Amino acid sequence: MCLSREEWGRVYRRRPTLPHIIRTPGARAKYSSDRYYCPFRDIQELVVAPTSTQAGPAARLEGILPDVEIAILEPLIEEIEQLKGERNAVILAHNYMTPDIYHGVADIKGDSLALARLASDTPADVIVMAGVHFMAETAKIVNPQKTVLIPDLEAGCSLAESITPQDIRLLRERYPGVPVVTYVNTSAEVKAESDICCTSGNAVQVVESLGVDRVMFLPDQYLGRWVATQTEVEIIVWEGSCMVHERFTGAELRVYRDTHPGIQIIAHPECPPDVLEEADFVGSTAGMIRWLKTERPRAVVMVTECSMSDNVAAELPETEFTQPCNLCPHMKRITMAGIRDALRDMRFEVLVDPEVAVRARLAVERMLEVKI
Ligand code: SF4
Repeated sequence: MCLSREEWGRVYRRRPTLPHIIRTPGARAKYSSDRYYCPFRDIQELVVAPTSTQAGPAARLEGILPDVEIAILEPLIEEIEQLKGERNAVILAHNYMTPDIYHGVADIKGDSLALARLASDTPADVIVMAGVHFMAETAKIVNPQKTVLIPDLEAGCSLAESITPQDIRLLRERYPGVPVVTYVNTSAEVKAESDICCTSGNAVQVVESLGVDRVMFLPDQYLGRWVATQTEVEIIVWEGSCMVHERFTGAELRVYRDTHPGIQIIAHPECPPDVLEEADFVGSTAGMIRWLKTERPRAVVMVTECSMSDNVAAELPETEFTQPCNLCPHMKRITMAGIRDALRDMRFEVLVDPEVAVRARLAVERMLEVKI
């Protein structure tokens, strides 16, 4: 079932307030440690050479999109390639972008933090973020000297919207001395109020690196609850959630198992606990890709944003992908035409207050120092 645009809007605007705090005592050993993956282990696999040095658009998309679509897209891709050269620009594409963007024009692909880190290594002057707003902000935080553009300013995130800097200040009053661990899917201002950031791939190690009995883990309640199953540290979670991942259910996954004997189920830890119970593997987007390339399952259900299955399926033709198709309406605001317009008109530039950027960068850098 798909939600209408109005329904998405209602979910997106829903925002918890301070009383919605859940405390989850540690309960280790529900999942084995071999289910962890470091998102940065996959960076090299996720990088593609600049598309301008590769085959033409038709060859890049061959077998991924129908020929008729490729023919329509070809002039647009060529225009984007030319603009990239003129602007000395790179396009960063999140794993949830549609295949035309992901395979057709992206220079660097991966999860949000991997994209930001890799962008700092490029000689480009301009970064176009084919992702949502917090990702563009993170790219700016890590690359303050570069111009960062986002093709659509409305590309937000239900998770990032669920918490504000003021909420964190109130939490600190309620739990004095308890460190704040913040998922990277947050605004720059929220990162700036945090002690340390984390990703879905390193959250447990980040929590344990602090050497304390309890932490506040913000803002994704499901990721926080999952972390609580992996550690003895008490986790205080915020009631935020990803509008895409919270819609999956364990019941629908059991139907896949019953009707497709032998099928593997892999899930993102932003999913609710009953979904993770059903999964054969739980991991970040990069972790799921790594698991697929290692395990090479015959058939798999990928429980995350739908476009990611499309993108990975193009690289693993021998695996049959079954997709419970939940799309992120924010990610889908990014289009090929929008990317072309961003490069042509140098819009929409994402700026972060320098004082906020300095504090946010500290929280990100502390995370990067954690060994996993
Ligand atoms: S998939 Fe979820 S976490 Fe990612 S941008 Fe969309 S709403 Fe935010």
